[in-house]
Amino acid sequence: MIATDLSISSQTCHAILQEVFGYPQFRGPQQAIVEHVANGGDALVLMPTGGGKSLCYQIPAIARQRAGLGVSIVVSPLIALMHDQVGALHEAGVSAAFLNSTLSGEEAYQVEQSMLRGDITLLYAAPERVTNPRFLALLDSLYERGQLSLFAIDEAHCVSQWGHDFRPEYRALTVLHERYAGVPRMALTATADDLTRADILERLQLQDAQAFVSSFDRPNIRYTIVEKREAVQQLLRFIEREHEGDAGIVYCQSRKKVEDVAQTLVDAGIHALPYHAGLDSRVRQDHQNRFLREEGVVMVATIAFGMGIDKPDVRFVAHLDMPKNIEGYYQETGRAGRDGLPAYAWMGYGLQDVVNQRRMIDESPAGEEFKQALRGKLDALLGLAEATDCRRVRLLAYFGEQLGDGPTYRCQNCDNCLNPPDIWDGTDAARKLLSTIYRIQQSSGMSFGAGHVMDIVRGKTTEKVTQHGHTTLSTFGIGTDFSEIQLRGVLRQLIAMGAVAVDAQAFNTLQLTEQSRAVLRGEVQVQLRESVSTPASRKSKRPGAGSAVVKAPIALDGDGLVRYAALKAWRAEVAREHNLPAYVIFHDATLAAIAKRAPQTLDDLQGISGIGAKKLEAYAQEVLRVVNT
Ligand code: ADP
Ligand code: ZN
Repeated sequence: MIATDLSISSQTCHAILQEVFGYPQFRGPQQAIVEHVANGGDALVLMPTGGGKSLCYQIPAIARQRAGLGVSIVVSPLIALMHDQVGALHEAGVSAAFLNSTLSGEEAYQVEQSMLRGDITLLYAAPERVTNPRFLALLDSLYERGQLSLFAIDEAHCVSQWGHDFRPEYRALTVLHERYAGVPRMALTATADDLTRADILERLQLQDAQAFVSSFDRPNIRYTIVEKREAVQQLLRFIEREHEGDAGIVYCQSRKKVEDVAQTLVDAGIHALPYHAGLDSRVRQDHQNRFLREEGVVMVATIAFGMGIDKPDVRFVAHLDMPKNIEGYYQETGRAGRDGLPAYAWMGYGLQDVVNQRRMIDESPAGEEFKQALRGKLDALLGLAEATDCRRVRLLAYFGEQLGDGPTYRCQNCDNCLNPPDIWDGTDAARKLLSTIYRIQQSSGMSFGAGHVMDIVRGKTTEKVTQHGHTTLSTFGIGTDFSEIQLRGVLRQLIAMGAVAVDAQAFNTLQLTEQSRAVLRGEVQVQLRESVSTPASRKSKRPGAGSAVVKAPIALDGDGLVRYAALKAWRAEVAREHNLPAYVIFHDATLAAIAKRAPQTLDDLQGISGIGAKKLEAYAQEVLRVVNT
């Protein structure tokens, strides 16, 4: 049963934004979504990570609770994060709770009781909990009394088998629609491709829901993709030059590599921790907590890490191995800079990445059609990596979005826009490589790997080359003027475009394909970016490296920096006492704004973004004291 003549005004929603969360304005489509859902509409919300999805259900939940409609249920797969999410709501003065397996029977019972009493505005629970009979009975009783207000299904892409986060439990959520007619439902995700979106609508029966699709642009993230040489050293330089003392995430393909890279970073004096599915779950949880709670931790992780991590001040996301597709890349890089302040996405990629990803697809047990889809997605990512034009234009085009006037647009915040690469024509080199693969095959009936083929083209008399008599091949030494780096780049392109196949069953040897012919005949051009090393940063090493570095997100004078540092120290204490991450108390940007204003009175604190009524009441006196001593 549900009240249908309800009307929650735009003013009401805006008042909650200001009063509870302390934000002056809605962002992007938030307002439209909030008003639609607050008034009982179903919604599909596609918004990039950091776009501000949480408020899209939290504000309607608060508005509807205040209108007497009862509790909102937030379905989330992220049990490990519920504690902090609920803690953040408590800090803002909202009554919230979670139900999951970390609670004792008694604790869970208490939560259920307060929910039945109508004392809870937002309840977080995992999908398997929401659909179990005991919990449904509870919901039945609320529903009969008109006290079941809203279902918000977060990370809704988990319902789709197309993503790497597929969770079958999500499929059972259709019961909510069938059982609680009239209770509005919203699905939220940062995964935007058409397949996933169609899957969500169908699987969650949201065909009639209004779709709200935001721009997926993240203008504050600077995208950089570099060719791998000594990748870990490149990463180290990147961190030392640009991100000393910053929190960041480094993604690697394998568990072993995660361990090795984390160790290398630690040896270099960086506060790094490993995270992968092979670690004991307690260690994993501990590392995640430290990443969220301590300042400046670099998490080295497999893709097992990151979903739902809402730490706003992650300053960089680095990929040491290429992900599977653009969706994955975009979701992972999107974890940088949720606070809207400048952030970096850095990826190193190389020939081996192309080979590995192709092989994983070839060897997977999936059907041919599925593999074809995966190859298409991989190719799009390779296209992005090899691109010589704006990365952002390419990325957004993949999600069906056009930036500015399209292909000629320059974002001025990616490597290609800031340092346009030189382009060279690799067609001749490509033909030389392909004919060499062909000649080897003809003369010996055998295939060889990339290193050997390049040695022949470059006329190197290695032991292996001599041993196989390959100095007598007509292509021996036809490409002495090419560097190995250039040839590697050409091979990478050839493999990426399917003109060379890599046989994983036979030591990664190279083979010609149907597509090779077009290149050999000169019908296909191979355009390459000139390999450039990462441009030297103009930024000199900060003074006093080794001592604590104070970096504020806005320009502050000397006194301002002192106040900022003092506020951070105070915040760290409060966060520890409350067992919550520091950013849940106040964001860096809020502390910096306070430091800048140097408030003397309560009034001076008014209007600073991020200070809602509850926080003002709880912390204003302390903040004034810290600022003025
Ligand atoms: P998402 O879930 O879409 O990744 P979040 O809901 O975690 O994003 O929001 C990202 C950050 O932006 C959070 O720190 C949040 O407090 C902040 N935020 C969201 N909406 C606003 C707003 N209207 N004004 C200011 N900050 C906002
Ligand atoms: Zn650009």
